This record gives sequence, structure tokens and C-alpha cells, in this order.
Amino acid sequence: MKITGLNVYQIDLPMKEGSYSWANQSFTSFDSTVVEIKTSEGISGYGEICPLGPSYLPAYAEGARVGIKKLAESLFGQDPSNLNNVNLLMDKALKGHPYVKSAIDVACWDILGKLTGQPIYNLLGGKLQDKIKLFKVISKSTPEIMKEKIIEYQEQGFRQFQMKVGENPSLDIKRINFVAEQLNEGNILGADANCGWKQHEALRVVNAIPGSDIYIEQPCTTYEECLVVRQHTNLPMILDECIDSVHTFLRAYSDKSVDIINLKIGRMGGLTKSKILRDLCVSVGISMTIEDTWGSQIGDAAIAHLAHSTPTEFHFQSSAFHEYTTAVTASNPPRIDNGYMSCNESPGLGILPNLESLGSPVLKLHP
Ligand code: MG
Repeated sequence: MKITGLNVYQIDLPMKEGSYSWANQSFTSFDSTVVEIKTSEGISGYGEICPLGPSYLPAYAEGARVGIKKLAESLFGQDPSNLNNVNLLMDKALKGHPYVKSAIDVACWDILGKLTGQPIYNLLGGKLQDKIKLFKVISKSTPEIMKEKIIEYQEQGFRQFQMKVGENPSLDIKRINFVAEQLNEGNILGADANCGWKQHEALRVVNAIPGSDIYIEQPCTTYEECLVVRQHTNLPMILDECIDSVHTFLRAYSDKSVDIINLKIGRMGGLTKSKILRDLCVSVGISMTIEDTWGSQIGDAAIAHLAHSTPTEFHFQSSAFHEYTTAVTASNPPRIDNGYMSCNESPGLGILPNLESLGSPVLKLHP
């Protein structure tokens, strides 16, 4: 089996609730890229990468498409079912840029699944949980609106929440207190600053809410700042943006600075490398939020397959981004029900791309 061509699609993902806001950023829509890899056997595989705007991580939507074009040259004629070789070739052709490689890697897993007749979760080690616990994002807004949102989302059946903070520490303390007061017994709340606080601001917040039963996520930009915050609080710490490789995780683990990591498939460069970090975390006893840097039905399927093959006790939560957007890139996506999502048993990702909404490819790459 050989890769004969790649089609690249661009699609906008508008927000159902109008906007998606965190720290000092707010978007009404995200720019997503879908890759279709065509093969000599007539099987096509799909993957998606959607950076959360151009200044969240060192990644941007147009860059994904330019990078995919660059990588395609090294992939023509190669066997997509040999995932290790595909990743070696991509790393040889382009240093870094994991987000560019992610959709290609996922599309190759989709092909491997279709070739073998297996859902990807079986190929990632086997299904360990039937349904994936989701968290609901409470977008950054006024404390009053955020309080109303958690009440509404709990009525919809969600049990885990990630409230967006990371702006003004005084206002963030008020936001956390307003939302935490409404949390039903047994439900779980995290306050995600998305790198938004300076070190002194993060210390003010964690000192102001010492008795709260909440998690703190990525308070500051650098790992070193997050480490200082960690050393001054007993609140459980989730690291997200600064865990971008096995190396950064090993450092955090060795420093005892992290209780949970946020594993984003796009930041690791696809499912192949995410599986390595996932298995390492399980081996050493660190739990994971498993998600991506945004996306739609296709990206959510990759999240769901990785989470299905993760032990329940180490899977903290996941996101289903297609719940937040009006766009539909595929039918047959993971089903969302009462705060959980689950994949079907179809081979590969199990989705059917919606070619009508994807439109014509913006890039048709052939040897
Ligand atoms: Mg986060």
C-alpha cells in the first residue's frame, strides 16, 4: 500500500455560543484543516488539526497547511500503515512543528484501521472504557454569567467543568468563588488560566482560594513559573501548554510538579506520539485530560479513540469540541450523551467525512 496523494481542506468552525474566551483571547470561529490521504488500495484516511488561534501555541492554521504541503513530498509512495516509518520520515523532513504532523499521523491511523477492519482504539492497545467522561468549558465571562453557565451545564448532565480564568486576578478570584459555590456535590471543577497569570498573580489567586475543592491548570506561561506556584499551593496542579514532549513531562514528573497532564494530540504530533506519553503516564501513575487544540467531528474521533484505550482510573476527562461549533465536518462522530462520548465500532476513526461542508480541497498534492 502506498500513499498516492493528499487533499487538504480548510473549514471555519463558528461557535454555537457566539464566542470562546480564555485568558486575554476571544474568538468567534476557529480555522481548521482536514487532511485526506489517498492510497493505492483505494482507502482514504482523514485527520484534523485546528490550532486555537495563532497565538495560543507556536502553531497557526495557515502554517499547518503550508507544513503539510512541505511534508507531502516525503510521504508520496510510502506505506501509510507503517506509522513508525511515517513519523520518522516526517521528523527527518521537518524539525519540530508537531501540529503540522498531527493530522497526517491521525489519517494514517485511520487508514490502518480501515485496512485491518479495526477501530483505532483496538490498535492503540484495546478498549478499556466504554464511554469517555467529558468536561464542559465555562468560557471566560463575568462572574455572574459564569455562575449561570455552570448551573445550566449541570442541568444538562455534565459533571466536570473547566472554567476559563487567567485575566485579572481579583476578578478571577470572584469568578472562581461564584462558580465553585454552585458546584453540585461530587462534581469536579478546574480553573484553567491558560498561561494568563504572571507568577505573583497566580500566587494571589491560589492564596485566596486555599480551601476550595478545585484544580488549578497551567497558571503561568513557563514551566518554571508554574513550578513556583506549585510549591506554594496544596491545590492539585494540571500542566497543559508546557507539556509538549516526553522530555518536558519527565522533568515535571521528576520535580513532582504535576498531578495531571493535559495531553493534546496536536501538540504531541499525532496519535503515535500521544500513545507513547499516554502509556508513560499510566506507567508512573499520572492521570490525563485527553484532548486536542480544538477541532470538530474528525478531531474528536481521534480524541475518543485514544481515551477509549486509556484506563478509566488514569483518564481524568476529555473534550468533545464538535459540541461547541455549528460546523459539521463528518457524520457518524463520537456520540455525546449525558456528559460522556463514545465511538462506534467502525474501522479506523469510524467517521464519514462530510465532503459537502468541506468543499473543494484548498491543496491537491500529488507526486
Ligand atoms: Mg488547558
